[in-house]
Amino acid sequence: MNTPIVPASSMGLDYSREDGTPTWAALEDAVGELEGGHATAFASGIATVSAVLDLLPVGAVIAVPTDSYTGTRAVFDHHEHAGRGRILRVSPDDTEAWSAAEADLLWLESPTNPSLHFIDIAAITAAVAAREGAPLVVVDNTFATPIGQHPLSLGADIVVHSATKFIGGHSDLLLGLTVTAEPALAARLRDARTRGGATPGALEAWLALRGLRTLPLRYAESSRTAALLTARLRAHPAVGHVRYPGSGAMIAFELPDADAADRLCSALRLIRHATSLGGVDSTIERRAARAGESHVPGGLLRFSVGLEDPEDLWRDLADALDAVGDTAARDTAETIP
Ligand SMILES: *Cc1c(COP(=O)(O)O)cnc(C)c1O
Repeated sequence: MNTPIVPASSMGLDYSREDGTPTWAALEDAVGELEGGHATAFASGIATVSAVLDLLPVGAVIAVPTDSYTGTRAVFDHHEHAGRGRILRVSPDDTEAWSAAEADLLWLESPTNPSLHFIDIAAITAAVAAREGAPLVVVDNTFATPIGQHPLSLGADIVVHSATKFIGGHSDLLLGLTVTAEPALAARLRDARTRGGATPGALEAWLALRGLRTLPLRYAESSRTAALLTARLRAHPAVGHVRYPGSGAMIAFELPDADAADRLCSALRLIRHATSLGGVDSTIERRAARAGESHVPGGLLRFSVGLEDPEDLWRDLADALDAVGDTAARDTAETIP
């Protein structure tokens, strides 16, 4: 019933960094089937960004969203500052700008972390496909998960995941995956892993596989709870703008300022004031407090809805909002554009 955890670094003449292990292969088969392509497992989500960059020649132009995971932005910033390529920064919802971008690679993250903006993947892939020298289109599907969105069927060339988040689902591992339907690209990504050496751990691959088994159930339950909490947050006088994609576990909402948001985080008792997301325990974080997130509104809270009882979560939020006080946020909050 269960794939064994295979810790071997060599199996006869096979060497794991090059040839993989049965545990990695089981995870890759499962995620590949879910996304509709060939998957390669890496040590972390960020390792997949490095592997994708490894596909490009020096000097290649990469278009990236103005809002995206901070670690991903750090990789692209470093790439640019080190003189390895040019980075174009595009507003997530500016479909025209994405479609017209003179770039070798489009890095689409949708919905974006932390502000939950959408990128119209299908419109952009349709627009660029006709072009000569069409850019490679990569989608970070971490927030939507393979349950919420299939970027390859929307025309993307490569999907990447931080399986650290929803695929793992229990805040107990770091792992990343790339998936592509093009065998030549899959081989190049695997080569990038062999050369780069960012291989997943045996236990991590096994835990990710175990997490994957309950992903549809966790996704459905968190979506139900998140929809309920979104409706109540929208109706609450102390809460400003609320963004929720309509399904999935992520909510972004705003309090009037950083101070109010910090006070809310301190007042919560069930929802953990912690970084990261996608686990069975609900977590909340004021992202602007972190280095590299100065573009995020000061009062914005990124809320990852777990599997706790929905009414317990609401009581925790409502009590903490009371503690922060009704500050007529609707009129004063910076709004997410
Ligand atoms: C966390 C995250 C990553 C990075 O993944 P790690 O597993 O932390 O390396 C990439 N993209 C998104 C959207 C993320 O949330």
